[in-house]
Amino acid sequence: MELYSGHINKLIEELSALPGIGNKSAQRLAFHLIDMPEDKVKRLAGTILDAKQNIRYCSRCYTLTDRETCPICANQGRNHKLIMVVENSRDLAAYEKTGRYEGVYHVLHGAISPMLGIGPSDIKLKELLQRLKEDVEEVIIATNSSLEGETTAMYISKLIKPLGVKVTRIASGVPVGGDLEYIDEVTLLRALDGRIEL
Ligand code: ZN
Repeated sequence: MELYSGHINKLIEELSALPGIGNKSAQRLAFHLIDMPEDKVKRLAGTILDAKQNIRYCSRCYTLTDRETCPICANQGRNHKLIMVVENSRDLAAYEKTGRYEGVYHVLHGAISPMLGIGPSDIKLKELLQRLKEDVEEVIIATNSSLEGETTAMYISKLIKPLGVKVTRIASGVPVGGDLEYIDEVTLLRALDGRIEL
């Protein structure tokens, strides 16, 4: 026998498919949503749809933005010859929060993982190589220090070095397996300052 009505079950099912939401949290959220006034639910649903329809990848660095070019790429005050490669937009945000990095970024949207069947063509690598046709002095690889992050860093460095572009890797101040987005700003800056050439 089903515990709840079909509509509630469907809502719980959809919510529990989101990252970090287990079945219990999904139930709590579902009941919270149902208790909310209808206009608030409409606003929330509208905001989600609006974000989905209006947010896209920056045409240069592939971070999420609502314009053709993100504010960082559009900023002529940034050093466009220095590209930091990160796995996702959250990692970009973590480095941006330090306020000290003056270069631009490239967002891969993932990392190479043979275990999960994610290969080089599944992340924004081709797009990175395309950008290197312009005048680039250094590529800083700031992927996570997980197995996937290290595999990706190695792969990228092998790909780029023959092009004569300097490739560096952020220092290991970042704990092994640590996600960049959870690391404090001092550690991030130390990792950036202590980067080593590959
Ligand atoms: Zn951009």
